[in-house]
Amino acid sequence: MQVKMKPEPMVIFEGKVSDWSEHAPMLMNEEANALADELAIEQARKIGLSEEEIAKYLRGSEIPISAEYVSCVDVTGLSENLEQLTKCLFGLREKLGVIDWGPISRYAREKLTQEAGNEFLLCCLLDYQSKADAAWKRASSFFRSQSEENRRELWKMIASMPEKEWRSEDNFKRCNLHWMRPAHNRLWRISQCICMFFDGDARNIWKGESVFDVMCRLYYIGAGEQIARMIVGALKDCKYLTGRGDVKADVHICRVLGRASRGEALSPISVLALSRKMYPQDPWLLDWPLWELGRSKCDAKSPNCKTCEISRVCRYAIEHPVHLKSLPDPA
Ligand code: SF4
Repeated sequence: MQVKMKPEPMVIFEGKVSDWSEHAPMLMNEEANALADELAIEQARKIGLSEEEIAKYLRGSEIPISAEYVSCVDVTGLSENLEQLTKCLFGLREKLGVIDWGPISRYAREKLTQEAGNEFLLCCLLDYQSKADAAWKRASSFFRSQSEENRRELWKMIASMPEKEWRSEDNFKRCNLHWMRPAHNRLWRISQCICMFFDGDARNIWKGESVFDVMCRLYYIGAGEQIARMIVGALKDCKYLTGRGDVKADVHICRVLGRASRGEALSPISVLALSRKMYPQDPWLLDWPLWELGRSKCDAKSPNCKTCEISRVCRYAIEHPVHLKSLPDPA
């Protein structure tokens, strides 16, 4: 069976084109392999690499993609107080404690069951355009309503259905996995890929792989760029993976980091660049406090700056003092 996936604009975390080529034969056909190279070249041009550097890149040499990437994004006018902001976010991260990633938090790495790996991946894949808590609850409740065998062979169960049936109104309502049809529909295609390339076992996507490889695999199965980052980050938090990761630059994180640094929301690409600049060792570590602020304080319409842990260094709060009465102590 030939898998065709529509390429989406993407950001290469780090690595080289040969990394793509190693995966492409396993994941996709020749044509798609060439497409992966094309995407990489396009991306390399976008980030301002010279043709010479791109040629080096294609020969598989390492290039400092992070530094090049950051330097191509216009950060003019962003806060000069990035160090303080990073410090405040780390203070909040410490206060928040350990993140609960549901099924994968409950197991030691070697003991993760196929069932728990499937549940984790399902919850992540449905975690968009919806409040995270509600999305995970909904996905878990569907998962737990299945028989033991279907929980273990979740992807085979979905993939064995004719696509038309999976997408039918009846099935959409019965599963109640997401309020959006596309979120439900895309699970069928993803299930086909997981069955075809990973033996129907979500754990095989990340077993023994690097952050970069897992990103590629998630991208290819169609998880979506930001969700792939979140999955990688969660796997890192739970020690299934090691290495640097990026923040999931979703609408909340773009708003919080944007307001804090510029006074208004940033684009996902700027958020990636800025977070890499703020903490190049592992930008992912900024994700949890930013996400939590977006969820609890930094509402799109009425940010609660009065109680926000980063208000002293937040550009929006400083420029809109009406939102501040008493400032909390700096972290
Ligand atoms: S201080 Fe206000 S605007 Fe800044 S991050 Fe906190 S809630 Fe959002």
